[in-house]
This record gives sequence, C-alpha cells and structure tokens, in this order.
Amino acid sequence: MTIFEQDKQYIANTYGRQEIAIVEGKNAHCTDSNGKDYIDFTSGIGVNSLGFCSDAWVSAITEQLHTLNHISNLYYTLPQVELAEKLTERTGMKKVFFANSGAEANEGAIKTARKYSSDKYSSSRHEIITLKDSFHGRTITTLAATGQEVFHKDFSPFTKGFVYAKANDIKDLQTKVTENTCAIMLECIQGEGGVLPLEQKFVDDVAKICAEKDILLIVDEVQTGVGRTGTFLCSEQYGIQPDLVTLAKGLGGGLPIGAVLFGEKTAEVLAPGDHATTFGGNPIVAAGSLAVMKTLTPEFLKEVQEKGQFCRELLKTFPGVTGVSGKGLMLGISLEKPLNNREIIATCGEKGLLLLGAKDKLRMLPPLTITKEELELGLMILKEALEEAV
Ligand SMILES: *Cc1c(COP(=O)(O)O)cnc(C)c1O
Repeated sequence: MTIFEQDKQYIANTYGRQEIAIVEGKNAHCTDSNGKDYIDFTSGIGVNSLGFCSDAWVSAITEQLHTLNHISNLYYTLPQVELAEKLTERTGMKKVFFANSGAEANEGAIKTARKYSSDKYSSSRHEIITLKDSFHGRTITTLAATGQEVFHKDFSPFTKGFVYAKANDIKDLQTKVTENTCAIMLECIQGEGGVLPLEQKFVDDVAKICAEKDILLIVDEVQTGVGRTGTFLCSEQYGIQPDLVTLAKGLGGGLPIGAVLFGEKTAEVLAPGDHATTFGGNPIVAAGSLAVMKTLTPEFLKEVQEKGQFCRELLKTFPGVTGVSGKGLMLGISLEKPLNNREIIATCGEKGLLLLGAKDKLRMLPPLTITKEELELGLMILKEALEEAV
C-alpha cells in the first residue's frame, strides 16, 4: 500500500490533502517521499516559525528531552516559568496560562471573560461579540465564536452567548453591544477569513467602547502573533493593549502549545480549580518555545517586515494578481477572475512550492527565517504557475 492508500484506510477523512508526503526539511526547504524538493510557504500553517528543524530549536528540545520530559502542572517547572516571564516582558501582559492549541487558548480566554463579568457584575452579563468572517477554532464553543455560517451546520446545539458584528463597521458593532456584553473578540488580521486586516479606526473605536463600558477586549493572535506580522504581537501595530491575548501556532516552533495572556484587569480572575490542562506548558514544548522567543529579536522582526515588503512588491507584478493584503510574512494574494486558487496551489505543488489558500485568495505564511534565496525560488515557481493559469 502507498502512504496515500494507507491514509485513506486508517485516517479519518477530515482533510482535503494534497498528494504529497513530506519526509524531511531544513529551514524553508523540504523533500517528499519520492525525493522531490519543495520550497515551503506554509510553515505548517504558521507553526514552524524558525523553519524546519532549526539548530537552536532542535538543541533546546533535545537538551530538555534528556532532562525532564513531563511532570504535570501540580509541580513547578523551569522552562514553563521562563517562557511565561519572556511572554509577559514582550507584551506588557501580566500573566500566562498555557494550553495546547489555538482553540484551547481561546476557550481559556472566553472562560476568563465570563468569570470576570460574572464576579464583578452578574452571570447574565456573559455575551461575547465576535466578527463575521472570523475564525477562532473547532471546539463547539470556539466554533460558536467563529462568525462564519459554513461552520454552523451539522454540529448544533452550539454554546450560547455569541453575537456577530460586521468587521470594520463600528455602527453595526454598536448595535450589538448590550448590558449583557462581557467581551469583544477579534483577530487584527482575519486569517482563515481571507487575510483581512482590520482598519485602524475600527480597532480604535472598539478599544474605546471596551474601555468605557468595562467590556474586555480579547485579541486572538493565534495566527498573527509571535512575529508573524513583523512585530511580536500584531496588536502592537494597532497601538492597543488588549485585556486578553491568545497565542498558539508559531509559539512552539513546531510543537503544540497555546497560551492565554492576561492583562491588568484579568490577571487575577482565574483561581485554583477554575481552569486546567494536563499537557499545557509541558517542559519540552516550553523549551522549544523559549528558543523561538530568543530568536525573535527586534532586528529579526525588522527582517520579517523587509521580507514581507520584498514579497509584496514582486507579487504585485505577477500575472493574475489583483492585490496583496496582510502584514509582515502573513500575506493574502487576490486573484483575477476566473482564476481558481485551489488549482494554482495544486500547480505550485507539482512545481515544488507549498502554498496555502484563505477563502478565494492564495495565502503565504513562510517560516520567519526564510532566506531571500528561498523566497525568490518560491516566488518564481508561483509566477510560473500564474503565467500558465492566466
Ligand atoms: C488556527 C487558528 C485557531 C485555531 O487553532 P488550533 O490550534 O487549530 O486550535 C484559532 N484562531 C485563529 C485566528 C487561528 O488562525
């Protein structure tokens, strides 16, 4: 049996996979089971922030692997506290809860927002406003938070208490604010929704409403965070200080980790027994994440911005491209009609480039460490695929 047949037989049929089996990689280069090479513009959906198997990350994990693999959150561990310290220093947030994924981090933030409001006001003040075209995860509650109809079929009943407002339409959002609103939750750039950045004015207005009415501002930085957009958090570029920030994807550099960051208002909301997870902040994952944190110096982040700018300028000259959205190395590429992004992604795969989609756009989330040469190689393949398609 081939790996593709084995997969069909033994793995639940939940993914539309490309027929490519990646076996090894270094930085933004990887190789499949036939020995064919690829440039990686996906970084495992924004996960491999330091690329495949970076030396610093591998040695941090290997060292920890030989020291302590796991002990549970009933005891203290060094990598976990060190990581929390680094995260709070970098973000101005006060405390951290470690989870294992983006959805779980969002669940933690949602629980915290509800408890904050229930402690301070009443349990009826529990509504959370999220945005249309948002994406917050695949658990029943984070699906409810996700403002996209396509996700709201087949799995009802969903968790109650979510209200959807139009992105970049403050009037619409204002009509959704009631005495029962406890939080507003948003992505600064809607990732799965199509790499759609929020407008500065809208974010300012939302932050103002939140501050005035003691409504918590939850920023889902699962995709935008950890250097992806050229600053440690994307919300820094909007000049806002959220009450809750969630991280995951790029934080572990390739191992599963999520985090809820608590601001001044929310740092003391959760008490022993309120929230927990067996694996959260596991020493090995935390050690890998520390290697990521150490790499993301201001100079490194500046390079992320420059690499993003380099891509934007080239992409704009490519046939069939009508626009480029996003920030840093989180880029959405709009295509002329009737170009089909799925077909272009498939052609790129055949030519040796791994690429993502988001709604009807192409999406690039290359490793933050991608070199100029790797970028050029990948972009050349994309250009070729576009030339053939138009
Ligand atoms: C990917 C993503 C999630 C879900 O993360 P998982 O680790 O898959 O649970 C949540 N929010 C945003 C913005 C994401 O991009």
